[in-house]
Amino acid sequence: RETVHKLCSGQVIVDLATSVKELLENSLDAGATSVDIKMRDGGLTSITVTDNGHGIAPEDYETLCRKHWTSKITSFEDLDGVTTFGFRGEALSSLCAVATVTIATATRESAPMGMSLEYDTSGELVEKTAVARERGTTVVISGLFARWPVRLADLKKNARKEYTRLVGLVEQYSIISDGVRITLSNQTARGNPVVSVRTPPQSDRLARLLGVFGAHLRPHLVHFEHRAENVSLEGHVSRPEGGRGGSDKQYFFVNGRPCDLPKAKKLINELFRAYCPNRYPVFAIAVSVEGSVDVNLTPDKREVMIRCEEQVLLGLREALMKSVLEPDE
Ligand code: ADP
Ligand code: MG
Repeated sequence: RETVHKLCSGQVIVDLATSVKELLENSLDAGATSVDIKMRDGGLTSITVTDNGHGIAPEDYETLCRKHWTSKITSFEDLDGVTTFGFRGEALSSLCAVATVTIATATRESAPMGMSLEYDTSGELVEKTAVARERGTTVVISGLFARWPVRLADLKKNARKEYTRLVGLVEQYSIISDGVRITLSNQTARGNPVVSVRTPPQSDRLARLLGVFGAHLRPHLVHFEHRAENVSLEGHVSRPEGGRGGSDKQYFFVNGRPCDLPKAKKLINELFRAYCPNRYPVFAIAVSVEGSVDVNLTPDKREVMIRCEEQVLLGLREALMKSVLEPDE
C-alpha cells in the first residue's frame, strides 16, 4: 500500500520548484492577500509558506492530505469551470510521501486560536495541537526527499539551478496575482536571509513587471495587444536593444495560469535575434484561448496543450512585428 502511494505520488512533486509552486497555488486558492515563502538552505532544510487566506475548516483536518481529496471541486460539472489553481487533491498527499508536513491553520471563526496538524507519510493525521494564530495557513515542509536518496542527491547537486527556477516561478505568480503580496526569501546557516522576490506595494501590473524585470527596463518595455479568432494576446516585451544577456524572465500565461510554451518562446527569440543578436527580450505574455486548452496534460499543469497553437504562433509573430520590431511610426 505504502509502495503504491509512493509510486503514484512521485509524479506531482518532482522537484523543489514544484513543491513550492503547489503550496503557493494553495495559498492563492485560499484567497490570501499575502503569501510569504521562506526557504532554509534553499529548501533542503525546510520550506515554510505562510498565508492569510481563509484557513482550513476543522472537518477537513483528517482528509486534507489524503490522495485525491480536494475541497475545490464538489461535482463533475465543476470541472468545466475550474477557477482555482488546484483541483486534483494531489499536492499535499504527494508532499507527505516525500517530506515531513506540518500545517498550522486558523479560520475567521477560530482565530485567534488555530490548530497545528502533523501528518504521516501516507497522509494520515497523527497529531493535533491547539496553537494561537491569526486567520490563515502555514505549511512547513522539512526534510524534503530525505527518504529518497537519489532525488535528494539530485537536488543537492542542482541546488542553485533549482532555486533559480523557483525564483522564476514565484515571479510569474507575482506578476499575475493582483492585490497579493508575495515574498520569497532564503536563509542559509551563514548570513542574513536573501530576499529573491518581493512584490511592490503598488498593485498595478507595470509596477509588478518592473519589480521582476528591473526598473531600468521601463523605457524599453512595449505593451501590445492582438486579437484573432479564438485567440487573444496581451503583454509586455522589451525592445531588442533593451534585452538581457540570457533568455530568462520570459513568461507566458495561458488563460491565467503560468505555463511553458516552448514553441512560442523559440519563435520570439528567433524573431528578435535578427534585430539584436546577443540580447534576449524579457516578456510577460498572456494568451487567452477559447475552450481549447487542456491543462491536464502534465501533472504539474505547466505544459498545456493548445489545440490552436498555430494561431497563437501566427498571432505572436504578427503582433510583435507590428508593435515592437517594425513599428510604423
Ligand atoms: P488541491 O489544491 O488540488 O485541492 P491539495 O493537495 O493542494 O489539493 O490541497 C488539498 C486541500 O487542502 C485543498 O483542497 C484545500 O482544501 C486545503 N488547503 C491546502 N492548502 C491550503 C491553504 N493554504 N489554505 C486553505 N486550505 C488549504
Ligand atoms: Mg493544491
